[in-house]
Amino acid sequence: MGIFIGIDLGGTNVRAGAFNPQGELIYSTETPIEAARGPQVGLETIYALLENVLKETQQPVLAIGIGSTGPLDRERGCIQNPFTLPGWEDVDIVSPLVQKYGVTVTLENDADAAALGEAWIGAGVGAERFVMVTIGTGVGFAFVINGKLYRGMGGEHPEGGHVLVDPSGPVCYCGARGCLESLVSGPAIAAYAQTLVLNQTGFLTEQTNGDFSQIDAGLVFSGARIGDEQCQEIVNTIAEYIGLGLVSIIMLTLPDRIVLTGGVIRSYDLLEPGIKRVLKQHSLMIPADKVELHLAALGQTAGMVGAARAAQMKFQETSYE
Ligand SMILES: [Zn+2]
Repeated sequence: MGIFIGIDLGGTNVRAGAFNPQGELIYSTETPIEAARGPQVGLETIYALLENVLKETQQPVLAIGIGSTGPLDRERGCIQNPFTLPGWEDVDIVSPLVQKYGVTVTLENDADAAALGEAWIGAGVGAERFVMVTIGTGVGFAFVINGKLYRGMGGEHPEGGHVLVDPSGPVCYCGARGCLESLVSGPAIAAYAQTLVLNQTGFLTEQTNGDFSQIDAGLVFSGARIGDEQCQEIVNTIAEYIGLGLVSIIMLTLPDRIVLTGGVIRSYDLLEPGIKRVLKQHSLMIPADKVELHLAALGQTAGMVGAARAAQMKFQETSYE
């Protein structure tokens, strides 16, 4: 008996779920975090959420895991995120929960938590080693080996989303030119489409009445889906970039499986032929075309599931990294 609680702390909402040791969700709940009101209010919100979970499950808590939007300091249990959690700079989120509940509390980056979740009960099950690539507002990356996260120097996770794809590409905030994120994130797709000389009678011109600043990635995919030639060309280019990024990742890690997720991947059916073509072209040295491509299974709940899994592994004193 007993539950592991996973908390997913985002810039907009916080959600908490109680899991049994087999990874079955017993109860979950969600509420706005109102991050702008500061960390003290945020902590009170999290306490209230946990009280709700305890009341509904009526079971003892074994450990608590938090997956949070970064940056954060896992070792010190501190959130350092003035970007999506304004005012949350050097906020110790772990100690107050340890004091209040008397159990082990872990803090994890949300992308890594999501990968642990997929490894536990999602699209990573059955793969000894898999890479998870999230393509949305940014491009996230996690490498899981036998259920554990791979860590680099100083415990940092590698940034596979910033592998170089096209050195003549746009400048990224990471300092590189033409890294994967700068080419295939949602905003990158929009920016690329906006810089093209668009057909006067094409879907993008018609939909925006010529105000190309209104173009976003979703509109490009919509156009490709109904057969607009220019949108299809853009999507083919994006698919090729994603394929090239995955080739670099595969060359270095040779995983059994790649798990894809994120807003851009909602249009995976349009991207898949191009991605697979590029992988096939780069299969001479290693069997890149044999690497399984799976879509993530847990959707929005992956971070919460993985936070609970991190809590469980810490509880069992199995390092998850
Ligand atoms: Zn970059």
